[in-house]
Amino acid sequence: MSEFSLEVLPGGIPTMSGGTRRGVKLDRSWQSDIIVNPGRCPFEDEESLEGRLIRFYQEEGGWRVITNQFTPYHNHLLIMPMTCWSKEDLRTLGGLNKITVALRIVSDILAPIAGERWLNVYVGATAGQNVTHLHYHLLEPAQRILSRPERDVAGHFASSLLVLFELEGFRVVVGGHRAGQCFIVPLEGRPFDQSAAESLAGVLQRIIRMFAEKFTSSQGLPPDFQINVKFIKGRVVYACFIPILNNWGGTEYLALMEGTPITLPWPHEDTLGHLLGR
Ligand SMILES: [Zn+2]
Repeated sequence: MSEFSLEVLPGGIPTMSGGTRRGVKLDRSWQSDIIVNPGRCPFEDEESLEGRLIRFYQEEGGWRVITNQFTPYHNHLLIMPMTCWSKEDLRTLGGLNKITVALRIVSDILAPIAGERWLNVYVGATAGQNVTHLHYHLLEPAQRILSRPERDVAGHFASSLLVLFELEGFRVVVGGHRAGQCFIVPLEGRPFDQSAAESLAGVLQRIIRMFAEKFTSSQGLPPDFQINVKFIKGRVVYACFIPILNNWGGTEYLALMEGTPITLPWPHEDTLGHLLGR
């Protein structure tokens, strides 16, 4: 094998990339289009929503916050628009205004909460979306049971050279366990208030748009993706964007237990070069 590189990431699970695996690939014959079926939507079934409504917001067509019934997590809320969206709207999270409303609701809920919370949203089946009515999860993560070698995720990625862009107090860098993954780190520790929510929405929208432009598959689909944000004391610690550009093989699943590296289909440098048109 020639010229592969190894990187140990926060959490201790390393990645390997390079060698003969270079250059982004856009063939995703395994990706399915999103099928929205409002007639069978569990989030529009008034009976199943009974007693679960926590808050209601008028903005952008109306949004509600409900409790999640099936979860091992404490304080697991779902934040969602009132109705199912088209697959085109899903793939952009509804555009800037709707991302902003969702994040403002998060800011509102987090204001009195000092503890850790995670925000997750999935678009497309390969990214983990199993109900096609858009919904953000906001939950208290499980207690950590293992100590890990290094957990300063934000510090690790803040010093990365693979910078995609900086916008409104956030730096976006390419890196992580998956090809195409990006980390969003705040450049200053400001509270996640309404204006910070707007800033983060702008950053997310720009990333989603870049990936839709540059990583639409040869079959014509923009990538499925997930977004995850970690908050502590009402501040963003970091966020990440994960487009689903490849599938994991046996070597990746065994790596989680064996301490061997997760193998990337191409190096993060190639993702960055492709996104920036170099
Ligand atoms: Zn629906």
